[in-house]
Amino acid sequence: RDLRSLRPPERDLRSLRPPERDLRSLRPPERPTEPPQLCRAGGDRHGHAEEGTEEQAGTPAPALSELKAVIGWLQKGLPFILILLAKVCFQHKLGIAVCIGMASTFAYANSTLREQVALKEKRSVLVVFWILAFLTGNTLYLLYTFSSQQLYNSLIFLKPSLDRLDFFDLMWIVGIADFVLKYLTIALKCLIVALPKIILAVKSKGKFYLIIEELSQLFRSLVPIQLWYKYIMGDDPSSSYFLGGILIIMYSLCKSFDICGRVGSVRKALKVLCTPQTYGVRATSQQCSEAGDICAICQAEFREPLILMCQHVFCEECLCLWFDREKTCPLCRSVTVETLRCWKDGTTSAHFQVY
Ligand SMILES: [Zn+2]
Ligand SMILES: [Zn+2]
Repeated sequence: RDLRSLRPPERDLRSLRPPERDLRSLRPPERPTEPPQLCRAGGDRHGHAEEGTEEQAGTPAPALSELKAVIGWLQKGLPFILILLAKVCFQHKLGIAVCIGMASTFAYANSTLREQVALKEKRSVLVVFWILAFLTGNTLYLLYTFSSQQLYNSLIFLKPSLDRLDFFDLMWIVGIADFVLKYLTIALKCLIVALPKIILAVKSKGKFYLIIEELSQLFRSLVPIQLWYKYIMGDDPSSSYFLGGILIIMYSLCKSFDICGRVGSVRKALKVLCTPQTYGVRATSQQCSEAGDICAICQAEFREPLILMCQHVFCEECLCLWFDREKTCPLCRSVTVETLRCWKDGTTSAHFQVY
């Protein structure tokens, strides 16, 4: 109480302010009614607001500063991430080396076969059989080396003999199975390339490459299903059946869309196989001589010449091979084929079917 009773002098001090107010009231007569205190408060607020905007302009926007923070974190953590990556790579060095080897074998076989297809009748049967032998040797050596894992089981929808299936095992088995199936696809196409003209005309080989490729892609998308089911459900009893069930349903849904698309492609390829393709009508000898008697594609005399809608003449065989790759006339670029079917040129998709 005594302390409180000491306050009055303060009040007295405050009561000494009036002269200030009087000074302020000397301001321009434009706003004489405005209370001086309010005016000050307003002025202060203004000052703060200005300081605030200045701060915002000086420091970067929130999104940018967050990005900077993330970059800073990455810079600090980069060495550790690299160490972790190096350790994982070292642990799986054998798998990585095998995959690089298989990928380069695939790339070599794929490009060589494509060249041989483009050579038409002049293809070398020797080279084709070399590709066949190379791929067979590679596959057999791989399956023999890892025979303890029974990797070939995954090709016939059985589980390879592994104690447990973790993520890297899954990728390993799926990757090997995918490469072996790609090799098989190339081998089948090699047999088609090697077939003599009497059995299968060069011009209709493109349809067979197409149907082989589409069937192979369908099969390759079916192979990983049982492995993924096993991986999602898990072998150990501690795994939750509820979560596994939900994930399996989601996987099955996504997978069924994928397979439906592939089945549709196979059906289209079968349609192409069954319908005879005609790009033009047979050219008369007069039309051939008008065209100069030389085919612009093979630079030789016409063999079974066809005349296109644009009045350009080519050999039938040259045209069929051309339209396996392109959809326009080689000379005037007018569109002749409505939809270009991929895979008719003998290439095999390099797509890695992970899931
Ligand atoms: Zn020609
Ligand atoms: Zn033309």
